[in-house]
Amino acid sequence: MDVYDIIIIGAGSAGMSAAIYAKRFGMKTLVIGKVVGGLLNDSHNVENYPGFPSIPGFDLMMRFKEHVESLSIPIKEEWVETVTKNDDGTFSVKTEKERYTAKTILIATGTKHRHLGVPGEERLAGKGVSYCATCDAAFFKGKDVAIVGGGDSAAQAANLLAQHASHVYVIVRKDHMRAEPLNRERLEQNEKVDILYETKVVEVLGENSVEKIKLTKPFKGSDELAVQGFFVEIGADVQSELAKPLGVERNERGEIIIDAESRTNVEGVYAAGDVGNRKFKQAITGAAEGCIAAFSAYDYLQRKEHGREARFGY
Ligand code: NDP
Repeated sequence: MDVYDIIIIGAGSAGMSAAIYAKRFGMKTLVIGKVVGGLLNDSHNVENYPGFPSIPGFDLMMRFKEHVESLSIPIKEEWVETVTKNDDGTFSVKTEKERYTAKTILIATGTKHRHLGVPGEERLAGKGVSYCATCDAAFFKGKDVAIVGGGDSAAQAANLLAQHASHVYVIVRKDHMRAEPLNRERLEQNEKVDILYETKVVEVLGENSVEKIKLTKPFKGSDELAVQGFFVEIGADVQSELAKPLGVERNERGEIIIDAESRTNVEGVYAAGDVGNRKFKQAITGAAEGCIAAFSAYDYLQRKEHGREARFGY
């Protein structure tokens, strides 16, 4: 049976960056990720990844993938069900198809889209309710749409939808948006866009598809807004369930607690990217943490197996 030096769970920016570094350290490396590219695939345009002034998130992640594959690192597009520690100190990773063994584990499982949890949302999902503007914007040509959320995802989705829809409403629960100033300014200057502050959506209405949304505060005299599309862009929840049975510590938001070297409290287990307890979560920080985690895992194995620390460039 193959024993990998490292199994990287998650194929987003953190996981793929880690794979590139691990392989170049000479580690026997496997990446397992159900969605290659992760949530960044849904980002319409990434404009803050150095070297790429403007690139669709999907295209950026396909470049990561090509880079990983150019190093002959296998990527298994499988869903990891459990990770357990064996008596000999190795880890078993069970997917819906196979069981793999590794000396170290990197959890880079990122996040999943948060749902609003209001009546009508689940029933009309895929029938006008969407969690991915990049995927669905083109279906709303000439229609009116609303987006709920006040962060960069909402701002980006609104800017994209304004290229297709006839009118775009952005529903923000606070009296301000927390999106990057550049993203927010573009929205404010777009005459197809109305931003409704201090307003919440309490229901999505429609027989077979979205027809209206119900608001907590009237807009132009009505607390119902006629829209055919409703986009939920209210952030994401971490996917850290795999960490729990391993005894890996998490905080109250479920984020895996890591130190400056991407180590968890469990020897041989690392975490990187959006699943970790970092305040700033971007493609570039995920990639950087992946690099750090790979180095830490390499250093751990060097000490354990050869009694020497890994040293590069210092
Ligand atoms: P964020 O967590 O940054 O923002 C979520 C937004 O949704 C907040 O405005 C929040 O409101 C609002 N919200 C949360 N729950 C509800 C609710 N139940 N009802 C109404 N509104 C709600 O998530 P994003 O997905 O926007 O961004 C995630 C990360 O990805 C951030 O770090 C962001 O910077 C990054 N990103 C960067 C992009 C870029 O181009 N640079 C593009 C996309 C994402 P409140 O403010 O009141 O908490």
